[in-house]
Amino acid sequence: MLFAHDTEVALRGCAALVNTAATLPTDTDDLQTEAELDAFVREWQWTGSRTRDAAELEAVRGLRPRLRELWTVDTDGAVELVNSLLAEADALPQLVRHDQWSWHLHATPPEAPLATRMAVEAAMAMVDVIRADELTRLGICAADDCEDVVVDLSKNRSKRYCDGGCGNRANVAAYRARKASGD
Ligand SMILES: [Zn+2]
Ligand SMILES: [Zn+2]
Repeated sequence: MLFAHDTEVALRGCAALVNTAATLPTDTDDLQTEAELDAFVREWQWTGSRTRDAAELEAVRGLRPRLRELWTVDTDGAVELVNSLLAEADALPQLVRHDQWSWHLHATPPEAPLATRMAVEAAMAMVDVIRADELTRLGICAADDCEDVVVDLSKNRSKRYCDGGCGNRANVAAYRARKASGD
């Protein structure tokens, strides 16, 4: 394992959140309704308070472009963004244990707004990434027609495609190309 378990879960969850946004004209936004947000929260097992209203949805949607920047800025830019996210939320790291999860860090109380908790969880995970000088683990999908973000947590730094199926599509395309060329 490259980072602590909660850091890796947070990084993957952050990437998934960023990737709900449509980055290309051909993409669909997967976080347009409160029901879609409910599904996302369930899938990523977010605990804590919810308001389940349009304002909550808008706040989470509005967080996505800021979090996406973590994948595109250099280290200095990432540091600035992480520090801003932590300062805006008055983050206060505390070790907590809840549900099935052993000791891990929360830096916001469970009653903080969902978007604030999402921002701080991502920022806290990025603290680990930046301190370990592993920012290159964050990249953009290698598929030509995809701009989704990728978190490469593999030992040999081999993850090039997003989790949206681009790796499979690239394999199929390569296979077809080989077949067409008569190999
Ligand atoms: Zn927790
Ligand atoms: Zn992709």
